[in-house]
Parts: sequence; C-alpha cells; structure tokens
Amino acid sequence: MIIDSIWIRRCPYCRKRIGFDMTECLACRAAYPSTPRIEVTPRGDICIAPFSYDGVIAAAIKDFKFRGVRFNSKSFAGAIVAAMKKTYFKDMDFEVITSVPATKKRKRQRGYNQAELIARYVAEMTGTGYKELLVRDVDTVYQHYLGQEERKKHDKSYYSIIDRESVRNKKILLIDDIMTSGSTLSGCSEVLMDAGAQRIFCAVTAITKRR
Ligand SMILES: [Zn+2]
Repeated sequence: MIIDSIWIRRCPYCRKRIGFDMTECLACRAAYPSTPRIEVTPRGDICIAPFSYDGVIAAAIKDFKFRGVRFNSKSFAGAIVAAMKKTYFKDMDFEVITSVPATKKRKRQRGYNQAELIARYVAEMTGTGYKELLVRDVDTVYQHYLGQEERKKHDKSYYSIIDRESVRNKKILLIDDIMTSGSTLSGCSEVLMDAGAQRIFCAVTAITKRR
C-alpha cells in the first residue's frame, strides 16, 4: 500500500502517478465498465453503481475507507455521475442529495464520513444541493450476527431525521460507498419515506458481486 505525501497523486485503481488536474489515469477511466450495475434494495428502491466490488475497485475503496486516501472519493463520484448519465437517473432531477451517515464515533476515528465525501462531490458535479438529512444513533457491531429480517428491522431503528423540512415531498438521491445486502440503504430510505419523502433512489460506488 502506498501513502504518499500530498504532493503526489496516484490513480486510485492502478496507482500510477497522475497529474493534479486528474482523478484517475486515462487508461483506467477508459476501462470503466460501459454498463452500470442496477439492483433493487430490500425496501424496493433502485440502486445503481458504476462498479462491482472486486479486484482493483475493492482495493481502491479499501484505501479510501481504511487507509485515509480521501482523494479516491472524487474519482468514485465521477464514476457514479458517469453511471447516472447512462441510466434514467440522468432525467430524474433530484432535489436533494444525501448520504448514509456514520456513527459519531466512527466519524471521529476516521475524521470523515466516506459516504458523505462521495455524495458531496456527486452534488457538486451534478449541480444538486447536498444536505445531511440523517443521523446514525447506534453502532452496528452485532449486525453480522443477525438474520436478514432482523437486520432490516434494526437498520431502520439506527437512523433519525435531522431536517424534516428538507425531506418532505422531495425526490432524494441517497449515496453510500458500497451496497452489500442493501439493508443499510433500505433502513435510511425507510426513515426518509416515513418523514414524507416523495421517492428515494440510491447510488453507490460498487455493489458486491454475489448478492
Ligand atoms: Zn489507472
């Protein structure tokens, strides 16, 4: 693993040095999959992703999540926006973009919420407003030990609304870094719908291969 000084930028995927005006090398950008992944969350929302969680993509996400390579988030956002343009998401006119919140403890440990970083770039690139709408109340340490039904129930109870006015009747794009079972996105979506959102769509950097 490479952690360079802030004076060196590397492509998130192949780790070659790149210029300061670039978010990934041209070869890797050209190799972006031409067809986005489209899945349905357990709650029934559509989720799109430019990538499957695999190989160099998984490595780039891990560098970002666990090794502090924040720079990768800009490339992930660019890939999400490119994927949106290839689907009907491009005509959706989202009114608000938001992200899956991290617990306060985790945000403190990492110094940032990774989903929020990606979401803020997507908002900037699409000219849509970003708003923090949810807060996460509890840590999800035991989530792995719960069954699918239990997880759905629990995931909803982890989140609360911060800003009810910004949710009501809004078409919202909810962003996270990875979709695995989709229970996290579903939990957030359900809380937003309960608060009066019109409809929720989801986008992530990568969806796990087998679901
Ligand atoms: Zn590259």
